[in-house]
Amino acid sequence: MSVTGLCQICEQNEAEHSCPNCGTLACENHWDEENALCAQCAATIQRGGRDEGQVQPDDLDDDEVMRF
Ligand SMILES: [Zn+2]
Ligand SMILES: [Zn+2]
Repeated sequence: MSVTGLCQICEQNEAEHSCPNCGTLACENHWDEENALCAQCAATIQRGGRDEGQVQPDDLDDDEVMRF
């Protein structure tokens, strides 16, 4: 399976994958191997999924949190 075109997230790198969820083309930097989704959909899932339930402040991933 090959994808032709630029990553639709950064529009700089060549896309290596296309997201099965939203169809976005994603380069390696914007592809989530674990979820096999683009970075945008992976981020949505990590926040609690598709409009199911509410986002809780303590639900944040450690690497998403800015520490001062
Ligand atoms: Zn990209
Ligand atoms: Zn996606």
